[in-house]
Amino acid sequence: MTEHTGSYYAATVNKATDYPPLIGDQSADVCVIGAGFTGISTALHLAERGYDVQVVEANRVGWGASGRNGGQLIGGISGEQKVANHHKRDVEDLFGELRWAGHAIVRERIQTYAIDCDLKYGYLDVAIKKRHLREFEADCRRLEKSGFPHEFRMLSKSETSETIGTDAYLGALLNMGNGHLHPLNLCVGEARAAESLGASIYEQSPVLDIEKGHRAKVVTERGSVTADFVVIAGNAYHALERQLRGIMFPVKSFIIATEPLPENVVAQINPRDLAVCDPNFLLQYFRLSADKRLLFGARFNYFGEDPAVIRKSHRKKMARIYPQLADARIDYAWGGTIGVPINRVPQLGRISPNVFYCQGYSGHGVNVTHLAGQIMADVVAGTAERFDLFASVKPLVMPGAHLLWKPMVALGILYYQVKDRL
Ligand SMILES: Cc1cc2nc3c(=O)[nH]c(=O)nc-3n(C[C@H](O)[C@H](O)[C@H](O)COP(=O)(O)OP(=O)(O)OC[C@H]3O[C@@H](n4cnc5c(N)ncnc54)[C@H](O)[C@@H]3O)c2cc1C
Repeated sequence: MTEHTGSYYAATVNKATDYPPLIGDQSADVCVIGAGFTGISTALHLAERGYDVQVVEANRVGWGASGRNGGQLIGGISGEQKVANHHKRDVEDLFGELRWAGHAIVRERIQTYAIDCDLKYGYLDVAIKKRHLREFEADCRRLEKSGFPHEFRMLSKSETSETIGTDAYLGALLNMGNGHLHPLNLCVGEARAAESLGASIYEQSPVLDIEKGHRAKVVTERGSVTADFVVIAGNAYHALERQLRGIMFPVKSFIIATEPLPENVVAQINPRDLAVCDPNFLLQYFRLSADKRLLFGARFNYFGEDPAVIRKSHRKKMARIYPQLADARIDYAWGGTIGVPINRVPQLGRISPNVFYCQGYSGHGVNVTHLAGQIMADVVAGTAERFDLFASVKPLVMPGAHLLWKPMVALGILYYQVKDRL
């Protein structure tokens, strides 16, 4: 049981949550384990439909990846092609609309519940290699064909430099349908919305056991919730169910936040306030916060959370793109863990008839968790069509992965480092 990590988001949360721990024996229609986007989104969808929901969180609402991420609202679902192949369907038919479904839910939540979380639209996929440009051009054609309703277009190298003040990229795809936001404020806002509809939330209450049965019992040190359905939403931080180990790698990503930047620097490096991301596996992503800090994120081969190590690594990476920030003060540095399934397909499934799980979005979680929450609410309510779309793709298992994940992830990072360079 710990408090939030030392992130920019935790330091600027609108109002920190302080829900009580779970004490005594409770009963509910649905018990959700984990209060990140997956858990809270599920709980809110269920509460909106009139279910009695109780959420049990080991730490704090948004304590995991949901309160630490890059805040980039990215379209698409990882592993789309594999799901389409499995169902022998055309990927565009299957995912054309689903790719953006999470965006619509986020937008609707922010409006309905007046959640103040700095949502801004505008996104640049930047190209490091010529093959990236070809991929973006194909994306553009797909968007065109599907009648994507927001502005999108390819930017030349010079337009890219004008837009984000760096010569580091060969060009970019501008997409005004994607965007960025303060993820912890969104997660906490959604938790409060669920609470306002009758959901109960318990913090500082790690779940120690799930007793399966006609009604399942979720057990913590000082209490329990007996429920008709359980949804496990612990993602990369979940270590309880044996079945969920070894089907997903916990991959770390790290972010720094500079001091608030002067207006003239902001005008140079990102006057349109876009989120920016490259397409590598060991990707770099950055954007401005509402108070004009540069939030700069990247993955590297490190498993700790020491801010000094993160600062050192990221300052160098950031200065390669923006030399003028080489000496900027870095006010925050933190890391978090992303659940990456071996086949990249989000993992929705059952471990018993009424105990479901939902995890593994490979860095596309802000969007996809919101869709996933809706799908989990559907399956609890008895509609399994979209759940089965994912659940029927069996996760690949790496025997021993839960014990040997560090060397395996290190090896994977090495592999992708080489692949990214080709
Ligand atoms: C540094 C970083 C940057 C990222 N950037 C982006 C980005 O820019 N855009 C994007 O789309 N995605 C991004 N992601 C991915 C995205 O954040 C995740 O996919 C998403 O937040 C997952 O949400 P979740 O609710 O499934 O898991 P989490 O947010 O990790 O929540 C899981 C929760 O379950 C709780 N829990 C676990 N076990 C138990 C237990 N036994 N009992 C009770 N509670 C338990 C944990 O305490 C935790 O709060 C990033 C992730 C990281 C780490």
